[in-house]
This record gives sequence, C-alpha cells and structure tokens, in this order.
Amino acid sequence: MSGDNPCLTCGACCSYFRVSFYWGEVHSEFAVPEAFTEPVSPTRLAMTGTNQSRPRCVALQGRVGDCVSCAIYPNRPSPCRDFQPFDADGACNRARAAFGLPPLDTSPVAA
Ligand code: SF4
Ligand code: SF4
Repeated sequence: MSGDNPCLTCGACCSYFRVSFYWGEVHSEFAVPEAFTEPVSPTRLAMTGTNQSRPRCVALQGRVGDCVSCAIYPNRPSPCRDFQPFDADGACNRARAAFGLPPLDTSPVAA
C-alpha cells in the first residue's frame, strides 16, 4: 500500500460492517486464520468482533480515523479484498461518515 492510501488513516469499514465469508476460506489460498473468526451459520464464518451491534474486527490495530493496520493483511478474507475506497456504491463513505470522517471524492476523473 502506498503512503497515499486513505485506508491507512481510516479503518472505518473494519469497524462498521459484519465481515462474513464462506468457511472454506480458512483452507483456501487466503488461509484466513481460524482463530480470528467465529461461526455465524453452518457454512459461514465472520471475523471475530464484526458480528455485533458495534462491530470492530479483532484484527484491526490502531484507532479508527488515525493510524490503523490489519494484523492479518496477507491472509484477510474475500470481503476485505473486494472492499475498495472510492467505491461507486458509497459503502466506504457510509462507514467513514459513521466515524465523522470526510467522504472520499468518488467522482469520475475528467479526461
Ligand atoms: S472505509 Fe474506505 S477509506 Fe476507510 S479503510 Fe475502509 S475502504 Fe479504506
Ligand atoms: S481482516 Fe483486516 S481488513 Fe478485514 S475487517 Fe479485519 S482488520 Fe479489516
């Protein structure tokens, strides 16, 4: 990640959404550490701490909106790999807003 990556001073999505995924990801190439997960159905796991009314992933290090990192970044599950800043559907900015963080500019770059 570069120094311009807004995620490094954010972490809001790791403290806002339930992060659930197919249990097989602990045995996939991602090798999500099972010790950081909890079952939410017979076939799905969630990152521990994200399946509660005030989520916070157990793997999130640091303070949201300040300086954060993911303790299992190379082994994070698919929802984390798919989630993007500057997303068109606004999920990133919804999470940021919940922590009083300004929205990222998602408008298209002029040619
Ligand atoms: S809410 Fe957006 S900017 Fe913040 S860490 Fe998640 S993807 Fe990055
Ligand atoms: S595994 Fe890492 S990237 Fe995914 S929610 Fe937890 S702290 Fe965030």
